[in-house]
Amino acid sequence: MKSTVLYAPMAYARYEENQTLPARFSRMLNQSGLAEKVRGKTVAIKMHVGSGTSYSTIPPVFVRKLVDFIKSNGGDCFITDHYVHNRHPEHRGYTETNLGCPILEGCGHLGRYFYTRDVHFNTFRHVDVAGLIHDADFMIDFSHVKGHGACGFGGACKNIAMGCVTDRTRHEIHALEGGLVWDAEKCIHCDKCIEACNHDANSFSEPGKNGVYEVNYHHCTLCQHCVKVCPTGAITLDSHDYKDFQTGMAICTREVLETFEPGNVYYINVLTAITALCDCWGMTTPALVPDLGIMASDDLVAIERASLDAIKIEDLIPVGVPKGMELSGEGHLFEQLHGKNPYIQLEALEKEGLGTQDYELKTVR
Ligand code: SF4
Ligand code: SF4
Repeated sequence: MKSTVLYAPMAYARYEENQTLPARFSRMLNQSGLAEKVRGKTVAIKMHVGSGTSYSTIPPVFVRKLVDFIKSNGGDCFITDHYVHNRHPEHRGYTETNLGCPILEGCGHLGRYFYTRDVHFNTFRHVDVAGLIHDADFMIDFSHVKGHGACGFGGACKNIAMGCVTDRTRHEIHALEGGLVWDAEKCIHCDKCIEACNHDANSFSEPGKNGVYEVNYHHCTLCQHCVKVCPTGAITLDSHDYKDFQTGMAICTREVLETFEPGNVYYINVLTAITALCDCWGMTTPALVPDLGIMASDDLVAIERASLDAIKIEDLIPVGVPKGMELSGEGHLFEQLHGKNPYIQLEALEKEGLGTQDYELKTVR
């Protein structure tokens, strides 16, 4: 049976406010069935709050609409992410005053509040579910869809598997893929890799040209920021097993979702400012394709598939391809950018019983 994905497109027929995306988003929420689902419940709204001067994260106007909708239907909500404090969400307009509810660190302000679930897949052993996610009655997985160097693309799955857990779990998932390799011959010791690391995970053994690149894998999340900024290609990711990585993502997602009663998770994907790189880069590059709109579904796999299908190579805006990156000419736009087939993630999610790629779009105008 096909899963339904609601789709509020950005394209409009008339020059009227009620034809614009915020108005359609409100109508989408009214049609979603969420009103009954959130009544009387504590609702965690999982977002990516961005970083630095990035401005491609979900605009506050949509967040406020969602918060007001939940509260007006008898739900009690909060917004959550990891590294909230360090990422200064207020710089992107995310404040309690603007959004109408608190913005909380998923693992608590010390990062030590989580529940560990044991898993056994290769070296992947621990899914540390953020305490506030675990304790909520209901979760809205509110995701900005974009490219992602490590995952191929970032949407609803990435928002859970990389966003509702601790650094230990993120590292264990990334480690399924391989590790960082540094080539001393290519390194010009410009230190851009050190500046690009958000986790203080890399360093040189000594200043100057004799320094050896070292990675503290206890802190490293294998986000590949250092890989991407290196001007000479001196750091590479040994990604010998991307399929294992995607299986790890799916297992992690399954474990987080299992902390909720069936039917108590809903997915909303925002397809605006669809950039090549993730919001955690602390900057925003031009969009790869025109803004598309917003999708919503109670099926994780269906909404991811519908989102990927809507992002078409033929709509590419060439200026959105970051300098130094080249399209490979094969596969989905995100695969052409990052060398990773995004549909592998969907197959892994299906295998874990988390939904179906067979969907039908229901347009909300
Ligand atoms: S960014 Fe590349 S070239 Fe520069 S110090 Fe790091 S590894 Fe060396
Ligand atoms: S992969 Fe990410 S976390 Fe690890 S050293 Fe590079 S920039 Fe830092």
